[in-house]
Amino acid sequence: MQKQGKKNPKTCEQCTKKTSVTLPYGPHYFCEKHFTKFFENRFKKTIRKYNLFKPKEKLLIALSGGKDSCVLLYLITKYYSKSNSIQALIIDEGVKGYREKAINVAKELCSKLNVNYLVVKFKKEFGLTNDKLMPLVLSNPTLGGTCAFCGTMRRNLMNKYAKKLRADKLLTGHNLDDEVQSFVMNVFNNDFKRLKRMNATSGIIDYEGFVKRIKPLYETPEKEIITYAAINEIKHYSQECCPYSWTAKRNEYREMLNTFENRFPGTEYSILRFFENLKPYLKSNKNSENKIIHSLHECKNCKEPTEKDYCKTCEMIQRIKKEEMKTKNKKEEKDLTHLNKYNKKLTCQTTKN
Ligand code: SF4
Repeated sequence: MQKQGKKNPKTCEQCTKKTSVTLPYGPHYFCEKHFTKFFENRFKKTIRKYNLFKPKEKLLIALSGGKDSCVLLYLITKYYSKSNSIQALIIDEGVKGYREKAINVAKELCSKLNVNYLVVKFKKEFGLTNDKLMPLVLSNPTLGGTCAFCGTMRRNLMNKYAKKLRADKLLTGHNLDDEVQSFVMNVFNNDFKRLKRMNATSGIIDYEGFVKRIKPLYETPEKEIITYAAINEIKHYSQECCPYSWTAKRNEYREMLNTFENRFPGTEYSILRFFENLKPYLKSNKNSENKIIHSLHECKNCKEPTEKDYCKTCEMIQRIKKEEMKTKNKKEEKDLTHLNKYNKKLTCQTTKN
């Protein structure tokens, strides 16, 4: 091992091998073996630090086939398959030419790691696919954002199936970049409610109708997930991103934060630490939380928890179905090619590092 404070960019800071991975925020210089060790130690530390799950708990991993969830599944099986039961949930939102490829990669990984999985489809669950939904949402901006629809529906299914499969925790692949983007977005949007709910665990956590969602990659930068996947040959789908991702405002935040991180390494960790320091002052009022919990009951349609008669997902679907009826005779459904013709905006692919 080299002496602290005497880092040589050309050699690993833990041994005498050539540097393969440089992390400018440290700075850290690692060979592949020691980068893997550093990465995995941080992952395990995050689980301990935020007390994300305990031995014997049943873990359900939301697996998309992308780098984050594939690396998450790989690490969870590597370190916790003896202490916990692990299963994967794959959601098919119905995006032709994209989703099925990612799902095949997800299934392959599950087979390789010996993990049982379940595939649930928007089409079967809601009678809608993203391909059908998106042109309708895009043609009527008053309906809201496309990703908001997709995300709400996905969360509904994740919670529903986590309960059906009797999972204690639902694990998602959210990484440091995602969390920092969400934090800045909530500040820019003055969305104090959402900001308060942000954490390595999320959702209303003390209500039996919600399965606790946890993020073991909460402190892991996106770039390092890509590097780790490459070094450890974890196959994931990365050829293209969701064709609707250009509609997400998040891309603008990703690009802005990447620019800062590249110019001033460590910016994203600083934002996360700032948020962690802020948390004690954001503590929610127990009374108002209890009030929400007491007003929760089953949605009249899908039985998921809600404060109203119908949950947000069912309300959204009703609105979409109405919109579909309205537009049915007016015009033909716009297909994906048509949407992309006038699309010159940022996508998750163009803004990722
Ligand atoms: Fe859904 Fe938007 Fe993600 Fe596509 S980019 S999968 S539409 S949330």
